[in-house]
This record gives sequence, C-alpha cells and structure tokens, in this order.
Amino acid sequence: MAAIALRTCIGCRGKFQKKTLLRFVNHVGSHLSADETGKLPGRGAYVCESKDCITEAFKSHKRVNSLLRTNLSKEVVMRFKQCLLHSVSQDSARGGGHK
Ligand SMILES: [Zn+2]
Repeated sequence: MAAIALRTCIGCRGKFQKKTLLRFVNHVGSHLSADETGKLPGRGAYVCESKDCITEAFKSHKRVNSLLRTNLSKEVVMRFKQCLLHSVSQDSARGGGHK
C-alpha cells in the first residue's frame, strides 16, 4: 500500500491530497502562476480551493515571499490573490471545497 502524499495548505495549514489543492509557483522569479497541471517548474506552494484559505494564505505578501523564497511586490501577490479568488468563486456553483 503506497502512502498518499499529502501537501500542506498554506492557508489553514491542513494536510490534504495534492489533487484537492491548488498549486501555484513562483514563475521565472517575477510573478506567480497557478499551476493547473502540477508540472510547472519553480518553487511552489499549495492552498485549498476555498476563499477562506486563499484569503488567509495571501494576507501578507511577505509571508508568501518567505514561503517561496522570493521577493515579489505586494501588487503582484495581491493581483494573484484576486485572480485565485475569482477562479474559486466561479467553481463554487458545483459545491466544491472540503468545508
Ligand atoms: Zn486550507
């Protein structure tokens, strides 16, 4: 029986299976990209597909920077947060999330 790899959500700090989380990476060192395929290179982190977790995860751009060992501007981080919030709100109609 293979162990299931769990990843930590940087919002709620809970551990979940990779496929239930949203991955994003510090792409080319200057901006953030949502990694829908799980194959983008770069230092990545995971967050639940929930507004609460995304809001918490991106509350401080300094925290995101320290997690990804980068130094992105607040504008870049906040724009990405809005982008993620927008994408989960579109999905909420199908009742996703683990809450
Ligand atoms: Zn979470």
